[in-house]
Formats: sequence, structure tokens, C-alpha cells
Amino acid sequence: SLSDGLQSAFKSLRGKGKLSEGNMREGLEIVQRSLLEADVSYPVVQEFMGHVTERALGKKVLLSLRPEQELVRIVHDELVSILGPVDPSIHLKKDGATIIMLCGLQGSGKTTTCGKLAQLLIEQKIKPTLVAADLQRPAAIEQLKVIGEQLGVPVYSEPDNKNPVQVCKNGVAKAEADGSRVVILDTAGRLAIDEELMAELERIDKKVGPDQVYLVVDGMTGQDAVNSADAFNKSLELDGVVMTKLDGDARGGALLSVKHVTGVPIKFIGTGEHFDALEPFRPEGMAGRILQMGDIVAAAAEAHRIVDEKEREELEAKMASGDFTLDDFKNMMEKVSKPGLMGRMMGLMPGMGQFKEALESEEAAGGIRQTIGAINAMTAEERRNPKIIDASRRTRIAKGAGVQTPVISQLVKQFDVMKPLMQGMAGGSMMDRAKMMQQ
Ligand code: GDP
Ligand code: MG
Repeated sequence: SLSDGLQSAFKSLRGKGKLSEGNMREGLEIVQRSLLEADVSYPVVQEFMGHVTERALGKKVLLSLRPEQELVRIVHDELVSILGPVDPSIHLKKDGATIIMLCGLQGSGKTTTCGKLAQLLIEQKIKPTLVAADLQRPAAIEQLKVIGEQLGVPVYSEPDNKNPVQVCKNGVAKAEADGSRVVILDTAGRLAIDEELMAELERIDKKVGPDQVYLVVDGMTGQDAVNSADAFNKSLELDGVVMTKLDGDARGGALLSVKHVTGVPIKFIGTGEHFDALEPFRPEGMAGRILQMGDIVAAAAEAHRIVDEKEREELEAKMASGDFTLDDFKNMMEKVSKPGLMGRMMGLMPGMGQFKEALESEEAAGGIRQTIGAINAMTAEERRNPKIIDASRRTRIAKGAGVQTPVISQLVKQFDVMKPLMQGMAGGSMMDRAKMMQQ
């Protein structure tokens, strides 16, 4: 997988030094490939990679973090910042009807999105009027009428009028007369961008003056999304983007391209054919989806959390003071028992990097679970002072934890070795003690 590729690309850089152009090259190539596979268009990927490289250069790799995690974190943050800011509001006017115009290529989901927006408004106790301004396809008016009937909202149409500007104007006038607070214009699309379509949309934009113009983009569009978005953006003053069909496998990289060329907020994403399948846009979710390295992003965030200076100081103080109990041991075990986290904890401890692999094994994870279970079966007194654990207590604890009695003696012994080690950690003679523990 991509994550594996990144990990091996950075193997030589583990836990040391800074990110440089040289040591990032392979990792950046993998990220670039991932973005292209997600259908982000090539020029956008190129510019993006430039930004990321700039941001990453010279970044120190945290002791506890692997370089690929640091890089992916930077990439992810950059994606989130480019995809944002969040603005899922339709910005209704205080007085009069707010006019929303939907535009986009044929089949992108404009008419469906009309219904979804209407549904959203109905939930806010607002009854919009839908205007059938797609006069290109005979079935288009009928499709909108069916949606209007299903939702119980009025649909304005003039089957014999061939002028969409007039239809929109008349529709808005009728809606205002009826006291509608929102009018949604369902315009025509083409299979590809053409001048006639653009001229028609420009006329509607000029003569009807919509308050909000949204570009509807099919999330399954690939590399050419950038071209169509560019064309719409040049002809119309866009206020937002709706990306549809993100309920499928598409990673939605086109969104990055569209955002890149239009610069307007991404308002909603469509996640199905039904009226309720419209969600406010969330950059974090989308960045994760585009990058598909969620595991690394999460691990990096967690490692950063663990590195939290305060927490570390507290742990060190405890260790130095000799108050380190089986409860603290258990807390630590619980933290490190999350997949992959053991290695990072060890990365925090000077000299322990070499034990990372061994400690991240399945076997180690099973051992940690067993240890936690055993400590859970102990009394508070036993946890504070394990010396009192005699044969009969051992038997009781083992039974409670569902393990063999030797497991308990083993644990107490292990803790005896751990305790001075933990306390010494703050002092710094870690290496010797770590070696001692291995024997
Ligand atoms: P228009 O030509 O832009 O008006 O596109 P339509 O609204 O007619 O939609 C074209 C097709 O895409 C229809 O079959 C819709 O049901 C479908 N569609 C629209 N939005 C979504 C979505 O978010 N998810 C899925 N799966 N299908 C969608
Ligand atoms: Mg339509």
C-alpha cells in the first residue's frame, strides 16, 4: 500500500534529523502519485507539491515521529487549509427572495441538488420555489416537477417558452408574489463546455441577478474537472461549489482542482440520489479521503499528542520521585497498547529506539493486554505495593484475570525491573538499564 511504500521510503531516516529535499524525494513522489490517483489534475498536483516541499523543508522530525508521518501530516494540513474555509450557509437575504442559481455540466447533479437544497430549506421551515430553466432537454421540466411534487414545493415552468432568461425572471416574480423566501434556478448543462451554454448562463446571471451561484461538479470527474470549473468560473461569478456522487468509490480529488481554480468555498457534498443525501462540506474528512493515508495521519496526530510536553514532564516527575506504581504502569501500557503506539512511546525514551520493532509485534500487543488484565484484577493496595502479593494473592489475581498463576509472578518481577528503570529514565542512565532488561 501507499503507507507501506512511504514507510520503506523513509526507513533510513527514522527518528533522526530534519526533512530535506534529498531525504523527502521518494516520499514526495509517493504522495504525488496518491494525489494523481485521486484524480487531482496534474498542474494542481505540481503546484501543491511545491507548497508542501517548501513547508516541510528543514522541519525537524520529532524523536517520537517517523519522517513519513511528519511529511504526511504536513501534506494533510496543507490539503485541509486549501480545501477550507468551511461555509455551509446559503446566506439568505433578510428581505425579499434569495435567488440561488445552480450551474454545471449535464448529468453533474444540478436537478437532484435542487431537490436536496429544497429539502434542507424545508427542514428550516422555508418553502422554496424551484424554477425549471433547463429548456434544452424535453424531460428536464418533468424531472423537476416530480421532485417538486415529492417535496411539496412549487415548481415554476413555461413549457412553450424557449427563453431561459424570461422563464427565470417570470419564475422569480411569481415566487416573490407568492412570498417565497428562496428561489432555486435549475439551469441547463451540456456534455462539454460550449460557448452557447456559457452565453446563456451569463445572460441569466446578468438579467436575473442571482444572489448565490453554485457550481455543481460530479465527484467522479477526473482530470478535466479543472477545465470545466475554469470555464464556469470565468463566465460567472461563483459563490460556491457542490460536489456530487461522493457516495461511490471516487476519492474526490477533482474537488482540489475545482477549489484551486475557483477559489470559492465548497458548500456541500452529495452522497446519494435521495433528497437527504446532502452534507455540509468538511475539509478534514475530504483531505483524508483524497490522501488515503488516514492511518498515518492519525498516528502522527497521536504521537504529537503524546509528546505533549506537560504530560511528559508529569510522567518523568513521577518516575524520578519513585512514586511509579503498577497503576502508572497500567496507564502506560494502556497508552502504548494502541497499534503502533508502543514504538512511538519508545521513541520518546532515549536509547529505546532499537526495541521499537520487537515491541510493535502482535505478540507484544497480546502481552500488554494480558498485563493490563492482570493489574485490573489487583486491589489498590497491591498495585501500590506489589511486595505484598504472596502465593494466595497470586492465585486470586490469576483467577480474576483468567491467566495462569506464573503470569502474575512474572508481572511482579517485570515491574521490579521496570520500576528502577522508569525512575532512572529521568536521570538518564537509560541505555545501561535497557540493556540489563534485555538479558
Ligand atoms: P443534471 O443533469 O445536472 O441536472 O443532473 P441530475 O440531477 O439529473 O443527475 C444526474 C444523475 O446523477 C441522476 O441519475 C441522479 O440521480 C444522479 N445523482 C445526482 N447526485 C448524486 C449523488 O450525490 N450521488 C449519486 N449516487 N447519484 C447522484
Ligand atoms: Mg437537470
